[in-house]
Amino acid sequence: MVWNLDFNISAWFVCLVLIMYYTSRRNLPIRRNRVFFLLMLLALIFNTVDISASIIASYPAIFPHGLIYAINVFYYIELALLPYCFARFCCLLLRDKDPHPLTILIRSIPCIAAILVSMLTIVNGKVFYLDAEGVFHYGPWRILYFYETVFYLIICACYIAARGAHKLQMRHRIALYSYIVITIFGHVLQVFVMPYHQTVSLCSMISILIVFLTFQGPDYYRERRTGFFDSRGLELVLSERYHSQQSASTAGFIIENFRTIKYVYTEDVVAALLRQVASYLQTLTDRQYTFYLRNGVFVVLLGERGSALELRDQIINRFYEPFVYKNNEYILRPKFFFDPGYIPYHTYEEYRSTISLALRTLAPQSATPSMLITEDMYQQAMRALAVERALGKALNNDAIEIFYQPIYSTYAGRVTSAEALARIRDEELGLLMPDEFIPIAENNGSITRLGEQVFTKVCRFIQSRDMDALGLEYIEINLSPLQCRRFGTARRYIDIMHLYGVDPKYINLEITETGSTGRDFTLDNLQELTEQGICFSLDDYGTGYSNLINTIHLPFTIIKIDKSIVWAYFDGQSSILELLIHHFKTLGKKVVAEGVETKQMSEALIGMDCHYLQGFLYSKPIPESDFIDYLEQ
Ligand code: C2E
Ligand code: MG
Ligand code: MG
Repeated sequence: MVWNLDFNISAWFVCLVLIMYYTSRRNLPIRRNRVFFLLMLLALIFNTVDISASIIASYPAIFPHGLIYAINVFYYIELALLPYCFARFCCLLLRDKDPHPLTILIRSIPCIAAILVSMLTIVNGKVFYLDAEGVFHYGPWRILYFYETVFYLIICACYIAARGAHKLQMRHRIALYSYIVITIFGHVLQVFVMPYHQTVSLCSMISILIVFLTFQGPDYYRERRTGFFDSRGLELVLSERYHSQQSASTAGFIIENFRTIKYVYTEDVVAALLRQVASYLQTLTDRQYTFYLRNGVFVVLLGERGSALELRDQIINRFYEPFVYKNNEYILRPKFFFDPGYIPYHTYEEYRSTISLALRTLAPQSATPSMLITEDMYQQAMRALAVERALGKALNNDAIEIFYQPIYSTYAGRVTSAEALARIRDEELGLLMPDEFIPIAENNGSITRLGEQVFTKVCRFIQSRDMDALGLEYIEINLSPLQCRRFGTARRYIDIMHLYGVDPKYINLEITETGSTGRDFTLDNLQELTEQGICFSLDDYGTGYSNLINTIHLPFTIIKIDKSIVWAYFDGQSSILELLIHHFKTLGKKVVAEGVETKQMSEALIGMDCHYLQGFLYSKPIPESDFIDYLEQ
C-alpha cells in the first residue's frame, strides 16, 4: 500500500519554521516554555518519523526489516509522548504548586505503558507487524494509542474547565480546547476513517500552531516600545521562582519624572525616550532578562552573573547626561532599587507592592537615588496589603464605621457640630485608622466607594435623628481630592441626599487645599453642590501648598486651621495662628482650630475670637451611640 504524505510534508515545513522562529527569539525562562518547546520538537520529530516510516514501509523490498521495525516503534513511542507532554504543559499553565513526585508517577503510567507496548510489539506484533515480505500491517492494540491520547486530553479538558476560569483568559482556554478537539479529531480520522492518511501528525501541528499564535509565541509577553518583556512576563518568572522556593534577585529603576514627561510630551517622544533607555540598558545586561513594567519602571533579573552595584552606577551615570531626540534634550531622573533575593515573597503581588513602596519612600532627587530592599520594607508592604484587603472587605460588606468628633462653638458655648471620620474594624487587624487606609483607597481607586459609603451613612444618621433637638447645626464630612476631580461626584452626592430626604443645610463638606486647586471637574462639582445649598470647609489649612487666593475665590464658609499650625503656636515656634484667624475673620469666614488638647489652648483660642474648636479636649472621635450620649450629657 502507498501512504498519502501530502499533508505531512506541508505540516513538517510549518513546524520547522515555528521552531526556528521560537529559538531565534529570547523566551521567558519558565518551565512552561521549555515544555512547549519540547512539545514542538516532539511534533517535528514525530512528523519526520511518520514521513520516513511511511516511505520505508512503502518499499519493504528495499529496506531491511530491522530498520522498518525500529522506525515504527519509534513512531509509536512519540505518539504516546505527545499527549503526555501536552498534559504537562497544561499542568504548568494551571497549577500553583509543584505536584508530589508520586502524583507525577501515577499520571505518567498510561504513557509509560504505551511506550512499553510499543517496544513489545517487536516480539508480540500486537501494535503492528511485518509479514514475510516485510509489508506493514496494523495490529489489534493500535487502538490503545487512541485511548491513551483521549485519556490525557479529556483529563486536560476537565482540568481547564475546573481551574482555567481564574487562571487563564478566555482566548487561552479556547486555544487549549481547540488543541484537544483537533487532536482527537485527527486520531479519529486516522484510526477509524482513513488509516493511510496521516491526519494525526497534521492535526497535532495545527493544534500547536493555534496555541503558539494565541499565547505561546515568543513575543506574546513583550512590551512593544522597549522590546523588553512586560509585567505579565515578570509575574510568570517570579511566581514560578517563589512557588518552587527559589530565590530571584532583581534590580531596576523607575524614571521618577516619567509621569510629567508623559503628561507634557507627545507619544512619539515618550516612545523614543523609552527605546533609548531600553537600548542602553540592553548594552549593560546583555545576558540577563530585562522587563519594562510601564509607568517608567525597568527591572532586570540578575541571576548569578549580575552585579547590582555596577549596574546602578552605570545607569545613574548615564542619566546625568540628557537623552536626545530630534535635537531636543530630555533629562530623566532614575530611582534605583536592588532586591537581593532573600526576601520571603510568596507571590508576585507581594514583590510588586514591596518594590513600589520602597520607590515611593525613596526621596526624589537624593544624591544617590538608590535603595536596597529590606525585610522591613517587605513587612510594611505586607501590612499595606493586609489593610488593602480589609478595606476591600469592609467596602463590600458595607461595614465602614463612622466615628463622630464633636466641634465646640465658642460663640454658642457648646458643641454645635461634629466631624464624621471613617474607621474600619477588622477581625485580624483590629481598628484601622484613616491615615492608614485612605491613602490606599486613593491609590487603588476605591476612595469613591468609600466616600459614598461614609456620605450615605451620615445621611442616614441625619435622617434618623432630630438634629435640632441634639443641638447640631451640621455634620462635617471629608471629601477626598480625587473625588473632587472626578466627574459626577456632585450628582451622586445630591442623589444620595435626596434618597434620604436630607436637608443640605445639615451637611458641610471638608476638602483639603490639594482638592480645591481647581483641576478637571473640581469647580463643576463644587458649584453644583453649592447650588444645592451645601457649604464647604477648607480642611487642614496650612499643610499643603497654601494658597490664599483659593481661600478668597472658592466657596468656603469655614477654614479649618491644621493642628500643626495650632501646636506650633502653643510650642512658641510660630505666631502665624493669630494672624490667620484675624485674616479669615476679615474675609467673613469662620475658623475652626484643630488639635485643641488642653484647657490653656482653648482659653487662648477663645481669646483670639476663634469660632470653633476641635480636639481631644472636648472628645476624641467616638462611635455614633457614644456621640449621642455625649451630646445628651
Ligand atoms: P482630618 O479631616 O484633619 O481629621 C481630623 C483628624 O485629627 C482626625 O484623625 C482626628 O482624630 C484628629 N484629631 C482631632 N483632634 C485632635 C487632637 O486634639 N489631637 C490629635 N493628636 N489629633 C486630633 P483621623 O480620624 O485619624 O483622620 C485622619 C484623616 O483621615 C482626616 O484628617 C481626614 O483627612 C481623613 N479622613 C477621615 N475620614 C475620612 C473620610 O471619610 N473620607 C476621606 N476622604 N478622608 C477621611
Ligand atoms: Mg477633616
Ligand atoms: Mg483636618
